[in-house]
Amino acid sequence: MENLGYYNGKTGPIEEMRVPMDDRSSWFGDGVYDATISVEHIPYALEEHIDRFFKSMALLEIEPDFTREDLAALLPSLVKQVDSPVQMVYWQVTRGTAPRAHAFPRGAKPNLWVFLRPWETAAGKAGDPARGQKLITVEDTRFFHCNIKTLNLIPNVLAAEKAGKAGCDEAVFHRSGRVTECSHSNVHILKDGVFRTAPEDNLILAGIGRAHAIARCGELGIPVDRTPFSVAEMMAADEVLITSSGVFCPAVSHIDGRPVGGRDPALAGRLRGALIGELWDYIAARGGQADYTKYML
Ligand code: PLP
Repeated sequence: MENLGYYNGKTGPIEEMRVPMDDRSSWFGDGVYDATISVEHIPYALEEHIDRFFKSMALLEIEPDFTREDLAALLPSLVKQVDSPVQMVYWQVTRGTAPRAHAFPRGAKPNLWVFLRPWETAAGKAGDPARGQKLITVEDTRFFHCNIKTLNLIPNVLAAEKAGKAGCDEAVFHRSGRVTECSHSNVHILKDGVFRTAPEDNLILAGIGRAHAIARCGELGIPVDRTPFSVAEMMAADEVLITSSGVFCPAVSHIDGRPVGGRDPALAGRLRGALIGELWDYIAARGGQADYTKYML
């Protein structure tokens, strides 16, 4: 199959799937999601994504009628039904189906959604991720629950659209000059050999790509500083880097049209190499083919 939709046990091509209008996602965005990529039909870092998904559900007091083990079995089985070896694996839970009323509906069962689509690798996008990402800055007007992976993403949508219109790859949010994260990734800087990343508070999503970058820094002997940094510090950094589950720490070349980074490509390259190496090891350990040159991630 080219793609796959799943809703409470029903599957089919995404274009043919139908969901009830009263699903709480349509009136309130009342749900949480998680997502990763699969390579060679193996979802990457699935256990960590499932852990975060269960934490997100707990924060919204959504009580699932499925277990971690159910999800850990379901997602790989769906991934195998889609042809593309590299896919986006996205799943969400919504609070249920009930007539529109703000407070939690009593007795409604949560709805589980999944979609799988071919993941457009860098080869199909603008080329090699190592070419340097272009970003814009945007004032962060989001609410104070950015640590929860909720479906409420309007400011992120608007910022990503603004970045695209400016010919850029991402938008970096800041709150009065304090850098938080990007519209769908985390942003970090290298300065004097130190990896700086925003602290894990309610202003950012604790990215799994970010956690992997921090862990690889530990192995490479790169000190990590989690104190907030400013837009000015970012513009003066040796390197600006972004991470998400399908984006393995490419360097940023421009922000708001001004050149940034490019002063410590050796360290940035070591970190990116370690992250990609970790991905390949993960896939190979689960039986994936080790011919990775065909994917540009
Ligand atoms: N921040 C935001 C707002 C995101 O939407 C995402 C990914 O969807 C991330 C950060 C990166 O998270 P992860 O590395 O878990 O993909």
